Amino acid sequence: MKAKENYGVTLDDVRQAHQRIDGIASKTPVKPSFRLQQKLKRNVWLKLENMQPTGAFKIRGATNAVLSLTPEQQRCGVITTSSGNHGRALAYLAKQLNVPAVVCMTEIAPKAKVANIESLGAEVVIHGTDQDQSAAKALEIAKQRGMTFIPAFDSKPVIAGQGTIALEILAQVPDVDTLVVQVSGGGLMSGICIAARAIKPDIKIIGVSSEHGAAIYESIKAGKIVTVDEPVSIADALPGPIPKDNQYTFAICRDMVDEIITVSDEQVVEAMVNAFLHERLILEGGGAASIALLDAICPDKLGQHVVAVCSGDNVDPMKIIELVESSKRT
Ligand SMILES: *Cc1c(COP(=O)(O)O)cnc(C)c1O
Repeated sequence: MKAKENYGVTLDDVRQAHQRIDGIASKTPVKPSFRLQQKLKRNVWLKLENMQPTGAFKIRGATNAVLSLTPEQQRCGVITTSSGNHGRALAYLAKQLNVPAVVCMTEIAPKAKVANIESLGAEVVIHGTDQDQSAAKALEIAKQRGMTFIPAFDSKPVIAGQGTIALEILAQVPDVDTLVVQVSGGGLMSGICIAARAIKPDIKIIGVSSEHGAAIYESIKAGKIVTVDEPVSIADALPGPIPKDNQYTFAICRDMVDEIITVSDEQVVEAMVNAFLHERLILEGGGAASIALLDAICPDKLGQHVVAVCSGDNVDPMKIIELVESSKRT
């Protein structure tokens, strides 16, 4: 690996994060996958981040970020623009930690998302019609109210929080030699790389992204940050651009990930159905993408002890039933 000495986040940061978030974020189980074990002739475990209180790993980074603030900063509150799993995590923390939280959304945000974030405990501010306008509003409110903006991935405490997943995996499966991890903005992958590479330098780390709109994957290929579209995808946590002023996640993923492999929506749908029928898990598209990768990859690329992160469950359960029904017809 051509890794540098210092990426701004260290194993020590991840270890401290693990203590800090204890009691708020869950230590999630690993579940052996009998189906994948049979198919790949290797040991395969699923790391069940879908079992977090808000259904995704984002609670780890968000909790670490909020608890790293001074008491005064916490009193003033936190703000973000994500209406997905990061926004859900911050909204949940607002109530758990008694810290005011604002989530800025665009006028086109679905009513169900707005209601969901509000019911968790955050204030929703609706502004503008695109992400840039909503982000500008968030920065304005942050300034007015003295709130701290918490980014969804490119932030030291967020990356360190997500990295705690690797500490748990290494303790739960000491022989692990291969990790399969989702990559969108790269916060999850960066945290896992920092922790896992420091403890087990030779571990294989394979990323999985969407076929379209894979910002980090395309940027690594181009050797610099390139912009991508945000196409509609069943794996809606995965596609989308990353800001050009990225400080941490691009360099960490570029230098520490062995390979990123992309999966199609069809493969993700099949993985969601397999997760439901064979693992009894409800996984959103992004959450099941690691299973899609394991179903597609040449097994020789894997070691003998593989752990795949199942990153989240934020999907309407009726949608899964629909997918299962239509998979029976084809
Ligand atoms: C946020 C998210 C991802 C991607 O994480 P990044 O840190 O942006 O790479 C993957 N799966 C789920 C369910 C998520 O919520």
